Amino acid sequence: MRVSVDKERCCGAGQCVMTAPDVFDQSDEDGVVLLRAERPAAALLSELELAAALCPAHAITVEGDPETATRGSDDTART
Ligand code: SF4
Repeated sequence: MRVSVDKERCCGAGQCVMTAPDVFDQSDEDGVVLLRAERPAAALLSELELAAALCPAHAITVEGDPETATRGSDDTART
């Protein structure tokens, strides 16, 4: 599993830090997301998918199994 963040999109809301503090942090300077673990343990997948879903800026991408990859973007609105 691989996690990435788009710092250009991030608005510093902090939902990701509250949801998955082992993986996300925020800059003390501007509140922009910091990635603590680019390849976190698979056991964190559900937390990370929730963080991606909650991110108001759609700035988090979680790539796991190719069949279950989740991107926190407008794409998630499609079913
Ligand atoms: S939830 Fe999204 S917008 Fe908020 S700090 Fe995390 S990445 Fe940035």
